[in-house]
Amino acid sequence: MTNRSKMEFLIWKLVAEARSFETSTILLLRTCHLRSVVSRYSTAAALQEPISAPVKVKYTQLFINGQFVDSASGKKFTTCDPRTGNVIAEVAEGDAEDINRAVGAARRAFDEGPWPKMTAYERSNILLKFADLLDQHTEEIAALETWDNGKPYEQAAKVELPMCSRIMRYYAGWTDKIHGLTAPADGPYHVQTLHEPIGVAGQIIPWNFPLLMFAWKIGPALATGNTIVMKTAEQTPLTALYAAKLLQEAGLPEGVLNVVSGYGPTAGAALASHMDVDKLAFTGSTETGKLVLGMAAESNLKPVTLELGGKSPFIVCKDADVDKAVELAHFALFFNQGQCCCAGSRTYVHESVYDEFVAKAKARAIQRVVGDPFRKDIEQGPQIDSEQFEKVMGYIKSGISSGATLETGGERYGSEGFYIQPTVFSNVKEDMLIAQDEIFGPVQSILKFNDLQDVIRRANATHYGLAAGVFTQDIDTANYLTRALRVGTVWVNCFDIFDAAIPFGGYKMSGQGREKGIYSLMNYLQIKAVVTPLNNPAWL
Ligand code: ADP
Repeated sequence: MTNRSKMEFLIWKLVAEARSFETSTILLLRTCHLRSVVSRYSTAAALQEPISAPVKVKYTQLFINGQFVDSASGKKFTTCDPRTGNVIAEVAEGDAEDINRAVGAARRAFDEGPWPKMTAYERSNILLKFADLLDQHTEEIAALETWDNGKPYEQAAKVELPMCSRIMRYYAGWTDKIHGLTAPADGPYHVQTLHEPIGVAGQIIPWNFPLLMFAWKIGPALATGNTIVMKTAEQTPLTALYAAKLLQEAGLPEGVLNVVSGYGPTAGAALASHMDVDKLAFTGSTETGKLVLGMAAESNLKPVTLELGGKSPFIVCKDADVDKAVELAHFALFFNQGQCCCAGSRTYVHESVYDEFVAKAKARAIQRVVGDPFRKDIEQGPQIDSEQFEKVMGYIKSGISSGATLETGGERYGSEGFYIQPTVFSNVKEDMLIAQDEIFGPVQSILKFNDLQDVIRRANATHYGLAAGVFTQDIDTANYLTRALRVGTVWVNCFDIFDAAIPFGGYKMSGQGREKGIYSLMNYLQIKAVVTPLNNPAWL
């Protein structure tokens, strides 16, 4: 083993052993930083031949009522390898009829099945068993995820999969802690509230963190005793089907979780507008979020939670340690190929450190190791598909033509697949598209500010309000900014910390409701008030 491999091995061992995702993320950050140091001595940055994925695709049919079945129409669609664009597998394509079948199964499982009658303790044990199975199959699932999505295997296996099982254990712990209240009503009445499951939950998830979004969604829904129809993203259908099989192995009764692969306007729309779905949870673009909210309203007024887009500011104050700020801002934007709804995609830097920051941010982006995501040293894989690739390249062209300074990158990386060079723009102005739109790619936009009032006004001048990063050593500045920013999460001197207990969601057009933590439980509960007269005169 070379010194570098030894060092990396030790760090990843630590990451694997880390108990919480928070620790894993911090270690991941440190590892990324280490890589930036070691990669100066590395010649590995060139794109190599893709390594064939070390995994077989086992499940490609729809999972309805505890069985893998073909779609009613018999139609299939292809899911592709973002490294090459080659087909990985043909997958059953669900549409309205399949959604109808899946909702029927979920309805029966809710109304008649054993699931709602189980004790909370039994439900908890199923979730715990599922978490164990996820841990036991981490390598296989992570390989499937990397193959289908293009994200670095190290990230999938060492951070995201452990986080999925962590989420399941967190919600397993909630099953027997869902308490109602007694209310002190006027008059001779005993009033209590029952917190009951809402029923059949429709869940629609995106492609950027396929299994993690699956876990965020099913955790609170199952813990509170609901049944589910999940519509996965058409780009990444594979890992949810695998996980559904593991849930069944863990003891989840038939019909409690149904997974329908397919497209948004067909399967997704059918789920959002279904009359027998009691609640809808959606993660995706703001544009589609508006559509599904409308469908939910026009059908049966089902309550909707939405986790949508963002254009999150990352604010580097004048007292910042510039080297650390550069590393964190780089991570905040480039993590997951820039395909994060909360990506720190507007890097605001105080004028006193701006030039130094830009020079170092450029150097860091040049060092970023891009290539086959199955390689161990890789920081950045390909974008998900040709559509996203073209969209990101379009924003890069727009940045150049609107007068921002292209510091580095701006081109396709390699000759096949959907890789994009890590790209940095400086001298970005508020009115440029790259400062306004969600790019969802490896494109950092650096803007200059002069005082806190100035940056607060500009950071808030967007329809989005998902997250923000604040980098300062001054506690008063941190407190001032965290209260002034109109966003659902502020990370101070850290970024992308996603522990199961931390709520996540947006202000403004970044969404409604919160996922994770205690807050997401209420999304899946109905509150029933039970009023009983106190008839015995002795009690009055
Ligand atoms: P992105 O642009 O990142 O793919 P989308 O919002 O289009 O984000 O997709 C997120 C999820 O929403 C995916 O599962 C997708 O299939 C689904 N979806 C897309 N369009 C619709 C629609 N009209 N109705 C319901 N779901 C949709």
